Amino acid sequence: MKTYCYECNDDKDVELLEKEVTTTIDTITFIYSANIAKCKICGNEVYIPEISDQNLKRANDKYCSSQAKLNHPTQTINYSTLI
Ligand SMILES: [Zn+2]
Repeated sequence: MKTYCYECNDDKDVELLEKEVTTTIDTITFIYSANIAKCKICGNEVYIPEISDQNLKRANDKYCSSQAKLNHPTQTINYSTLI
């Protein structure tokens, strides 16, 4: 797959890598694995809209699941009230 690389100023082969990215949305900090594309020639990270969209979706999914955990903490049952 060839993509324009600013460093090389030309269309170059890119390789796709996974990278753990720490991000904060509102007050929730979480880690998700993002895809990044790197130029095989110079190693510069290149921007590919489709990959960026995928990463955004991954971040959002992770954010939603992190938020769900916060809103629904594991309930501790107080047995004494059952008697
Ligand atoms: Zn390059």
